[in-house]
Amino acid sequence: MYKGQKSIRGNIEDFLCPFTDMYITQGSKGFFSHQGIYANDVRGKVAGIRYPYYAPCTSKCIKVYKESGQVMWQSINKVRFANGRIDYATFMTAHDDSMDATIGQIVEQGNQLGNMGKKGNATGVHCHIQVSQSKDTTWQKNKYGNYQFNNEYDLDDCYFVDYTNILYGMGGNWKTTGKVPVIEISGNNALDQIIYPGSKVMFDGIFHVDIIKRGTNLFGNFKLTGVDYSTYYNERAASYHWIPLADFTEVDRYGSTINQDDIVYGGESYVINNHIYEVREIDLKTNSAKLVINNREVWIFSAFLKEV
Ligand SMILES: [Zn+2]
Repeated sequence: MYKGQKSIRGNIEDFLCPFTDMYITQGSKGFFSHQGIYANDVRGKVAGIRYPYYAPCTSKCIKVYKESGQVMWQSINKVRFANGRIDYATFMTAHDDSMDATIGQIVEQGNQLGNMGKKGNATGVHCHIQVSQSKDTTWQKNKYGNYQFNNEYDLDDCYFVDYTNILYGMGGNWKTTGKVPVIEISGNNALDQIIYPGSKVMFDGIFHVDIIKRGTNLFGNFKLTGVDYSTYYNERAASYHWIPLADFTEVDRYGSTINQDDIVYGGESYVINNHIYEVREIDLKTNSAKLVINNREVWIFSAFLKEV
């Protein structure tokens, strides 16, 4: 990817390769520090240069390991991976010498995430990256003494290489977004969960309150409904695109309820929803599910629901 690149289809971010130039110096399941793990060591065009790399999706810093130069990141919402799966991304980057990432920090897709470096056990300047297609942050040693996630995938199954210059790809089956069209939710086993009428679901993620409909206790959310601001604002949004606030709880943008007064402002506040709903209908064209929230029918993109 290049600096500032974004890739969003069907309201879901594509998980992008964080490197502008990619020269792999150690591949997955290598003989050295990658034994038994899906990880890549990547350097840039010229060896020894601390090239920047960018956020493959909008990511939040979960953990930092100062001594070893590692940072654990997680996507704010579900993303689309190069193998077609839609799920959360939890990933580790390592060796950034500056180590200025802080827990809770959110980096928008395309903004700089760090620099290649030598911090920790690195033999040359590079970025070590390991990706889990899951929300699980478990990080444990395998039998070879290397740390891994529970749901790691090889990197060519994780990131799209649009605008990445592959100098040495180690024979990986690298894919661009054009190879993975946006697919429908029903009957496609590439997706982690298949939602049908009758399925029980919960909202999955932290959602921004984009606009408030005054006096009605309803709000608009572009991500959940696909309706843009001006359509909401000018009241051209159909009634089933306005979402009742009733079952939502105000949180900060990291998902914490501490110090929240439950007074929600359009364009400012964030909310979560821990209620369980039954899917009433599915719309295949838009990948949406109809829910009844506080007696109102609302269409929500299925990607932001999880089956429970
Ligand atoms: Zn490595």
